[in-house]
Amino acid sequence: MKIGILAVQGAFAEHAAVLERLDVPCKEIRQRGDLEEPLDGLILPGGESTVQGKLLRALGLFEPMREMIQSGLPVLATCAGMILLAGEIDGQGTRYFATMPMTVRRNAYGRQLGSFHVEAEFADAGKIPMTFIRAPYVTRVGEGALTLAKVDGHVVAVRFKNQVALSFHPELDGDLRLHRRFVSMCRERTAQAERQAVR
Ligand code: GLN
Repeated sequence: MKIGILAVQGAFAEHAAVLERLDVPCKEIRQRGDLEEPLDGLILPGGESTVQGKLLRALGLFEPMREMIQSGLPVLATCAGMILLAGEIDGQGTRYFATMPMTVRRNAYGRQLGSFHVEAEFADAGKIPMTFIRAPYVTRVGEGALTLAKVDGHVVAVRFKNQVALSFHPELDGDLRLHRRFVSMCRERTAQAERQAVR
């Protein structure tokens, strides 16, 4: 079991610390060679999506990572990571992996006063603490995508196939439930892939 964490910019160390608490090995992904060993899942951390997008391309990570996601590798994306996965970004021509059918709005809560903390219902998990930092929210949930949480009427968590995108930062709140769920998803997918390989 090994989960890759994109570690070119942003809050990757916080995700690594959560995985360590869960006793799950992780690998920080900084260059193409880091993708050579098999991974059971991938975390796209918060940070600055424009910077991450540029670095992904400059480091040659963009295409291989997009293919891995497209072929079903489970992904947990927080904040800037959600922007990287979005099929469309409001008011912006650029897009990145674009593997999730949804539209997001960057800095949707404003740039300066955009940071806040709430507790809100999350699908099948009860109330979850949620910290938002200059966060995006989802303005359109496309076909096949599932809304997992809303705050003040805005969609802040979406699942599409094996991809889970969150506007907020569960890695900052000491609540391990969403990471634990993600790790189970990774285990299930690997087990399923192994069963298929045996057949
Ligand atoms: N505002 C950032 C962006 O647009 C996201 C903020 C975050 O990841 N905490 O990329």
